[in-house]
Amino acid sequence: RFEDVTLAPPDPILGVSEAFKADTSDVKLNLGVGAYRTEELQPYVLNVVKKAEKLMLERGENKEYLPIEGLAAFNKVTAELLFGADNPVIQLGRVATVQSLSGTGSLRLAAAFIQRYFPEAKVLLSSPTWGNHKNIFNDARVPWSEYRYYDPRTVGLDFEGMLEDIKAAQDGSFVLLHGCAHNPTGIDPTPEQWEKIADVIEEKNHIPFFDVAYQGFASGSLDVDASSVRTFVARGLELFVAQSYSKNLGLYAERIGAINVVCSFPDDATRVKSQLKRLARPMYSNPPVHGARIVANVVGDPTLFGEWKQEMELMAGRTKNVRQRLFENLSEKDESGKDWSFILKQIGMFSYTGLNKAQSENMTNKWHVYMTKDGRISLAGLSLSKCEYLADAIIDSFYN
Ligand code: PMP
Repeated sequence: RFEDVTLAPPDPILGVSEAFKADTSDVKLNLGVGAYRTEELQPYVLNVVKKAEKLMLERGENKEYLPIEGLAAFNKVTAELLFGADNPVIQLGRVATVQSLSGTGSLRLAAAFIQRYFPEAKVLLSSPTWGNHKNIFNDARVPWSEYRYYDPRTVGLDFEGMLEDIKAAQDGSFVLLHGCAHNPTGIDPTPEQWEKIADVIEEKNHIPFFDVAYQGFASGSLDVDASSVRTFVARGLELFVAQSYSKNLGLYAERIGAINVVCSFPDDATRVKSQLKRLARPMYSNPPVHGARIVANVVGDPTLFGEWKQEMELMAGRTKNVRQRLFENLSEKDESGKDWSFILKQIGMFSYTGLNKAQSENMTNKWHVYMTKDGRISLAGLSLSKCEYLADAIIDSFYN
């Protein structure tokens, strides 16, 4: 009976937006969910997206079902964007690419695949990680454990701890890695560290599983942000990569992304793809077409592709400016001499402030600054003119 259904708690990230909406204060600031805003704090639809949509209307595209694996033109460009069009794994047909429901749906599809074909395997998640990773693997019934990642003493990477934990895991584990702009910490390994991580993963016969939610949005360059993935691919490893176009093309609600599986041989890729399709069919049958057409049109047209890169640089640049301003305001206002430069070392849309749960609650309850309780703030939701207010709120919450 429905009477026995218990009330679920609000989602720790999306629940923040609900609370923000209910607040009537005019100084309120929503730094919870990771969504890009303009300097005026308005949602932003990229010009290239509007142009691609106009083209789609002019062509009179229909609304027929897509195949289970998605739009062929999208699958081609999404793999090329990720690995590089001249990458041997693309040239040799060693990648199984299936369009799925943005990053989340792609992760979920891969999790179902792991559960079916690697029932003994475990997934290793960074501590901390994006909260939904745990939900995804829990619901897919894939066991997971954590590897050390964040070091609160340095507000940086616990590199030695990370390697030790990956080494200590059972051979053949899946290691979930954030391709760039680690969420929630904003702390990424250096290229040299990525090589060492790859050494350990190779030694242990682990399978890397990259989550790439910010390609081009983190640094402003598609290639720079894909370099971690390409390092592992160049070593000839088999691996997973989940992709999302929520942030870099601002297609949050279109649910467009893909799961890519790099295999050792083209025949393996064919079989893997057939099984991914088999898993997708009873889950959601086939993916939505609108976002796939936008991506295919933007990437497939040299002019639009160029404009997209400019708009991505603009978004990444605005986020970096806000990061710099917040650092300056905090340094000016903080009389204790605390070193806030860790904020500048972080990359991507988030900053991990080091505020604990009670301090984060003070941010919301006293200052109307909405954020997740782990101390993460979304800089993409902040404007230059609000940095000073935010710095006041952080300092008050930090020291009181
Ligand atoms: N992975 C990470 C690390 C993310 O930060 C996000 C977005 N918050 C996603 C995946 C997936 O987002 P979406 O499902 O909107 O693509």
